[in-house]
Amino acid sequence: MTQNYPKGSAEYINRLNKIKVLNLIRETGEISRAEIVKETGLSAPTITRIVDSLINNEKLAFQIGIGTSKGGRPPVIVSFNGEDSYVIGIDWGRTHIFGILSNLNGDVLVEEDLRIETTNGFDADLNRLVSLIEGLIAKSGIDKSKLHGIGVAAAGFINKRNDIIEYSPNFKWEGVDIKKPVIRHFKVPVIVDNVSRVMAQGELMYGIGEKYKDFIFINVGYGIGSGIIMNGLPFYGFDGMAGEIGHNRIIGTIAGGIECSCGKLDCLECYSSGRGIAKIAMKQKQFYPHSTLNQIENISTELIAEAARKGDEFAIYLFYQAADYLGLAIASVANTFNPAAIVLGGKVMQSGPFFQERIRSVFNREIIQQPTRRIELLHSQLGNEAAVKGAISLIINEILNFRV
Ligand SMILES: [Zn+2]
Repeated sequence: MTQNYPKGSAEYINRLNKIKVLNLIRETGEISRAEIVKETGLSAPTITRIVDSLINNEKLAFQIGIGTSKGGRPPVIVSFNGEDSYVIGIDWGRTHIFGILSNLNGDVLVEEDLRIETTNGFDADLNRLVSLIEGLIAKSGIDKSKLHGIGVAAAGFINKRNDIIEYSPNFKWEGVDIKKPVIRHFKVPVIVDNVSRVMAQGELMYGIGEKYKDFIFINVGYGIGSGIIMNGLPFYGFDGMAGEIGHNRIIGTIAGGIECSCGKLDCLECYSSGRGIAKIAMKQKQFYPHSTLNQIENISTELIAEAARKGDEFAIYLFYQAADYLGLAIASVANTFNPAAIVLGGKVMQSGPFFQERIRSVFNREIIQQPTRRIELLHSQLGNEAAVKGAISLIINEILNFRV
């Protein structure tokens, strides 16, 4: 995982001091070495050592010149190197790989969206990822040595002790390591995490995090997952698999149950994810001869949403069923964690107000009513960019906290 020094050790204290100094430089924009000494209360030799390291080793700061003297030696001004230091964020989904290259200030320089029709096994998929990253670097024209790291959001059960994706129901990967080969190829730090937790972190840094520090992000897309943010920090659980609400069992309505991609029966995903809704539509369309979906060979979730918006009863039934299970699941998460807000995101959430409103009514019915406050049910502010923005924030956070 990331570097952890024992508390109280010289390395640990050095890292905390470095974070303190870097934050001060970032917040002020530009500041003199003497002022850093004054503001932090650290000794002048310590500040010299830290600032020199930030300039020469981490390249996160640079000297912008000599200020005007108010008597005595003229001050040396340093500034945060956010504009000319770069990171890459990747949203590795089942149907596309979306990548952006931004500087440490979060300004996006270039982006690339690669549609994937099929998966040809992990090695072939990984090659596609590597060439997409190569493409981003080439397109941006940045000097490769100024790339500080890569953040990757991927779907799957990730073990945060070793960063291995133990199983990905969406990709059918088993025990794969994205991190090592990407580090080997690009020779920069790489952070990989579960897509729903990454989306939550995107919201924390660039979206509703401005207002809320305790919230749960619900990602409804091809699959279903969630990212839990508590006290402004992501919650991982013991191994890093916290938040897998899509694989909790529900009492399904289909006789014999539906087999889930995870191997279990009647998970929430089977009824409420994009894949699940489309699968049920294929199975049941024969019973709805008047539905516009009846004649369609390959029904996608987008087509069902479109039909539902036009009033197709079968399509509405499928989405209402999905919403009813989701509303229950989300309320039970809210009752368990007592967050300030729940954020609904992911592609299927964009199907239409009819879907969102149904979820809201079930949710409001099922949460514990607090006399003074109601848990806010919000929509993602980042839309389709939540995962990729989250991946950027993931790697920027690691860099600024010297954990890579
Ligand atoms: Zn499952």
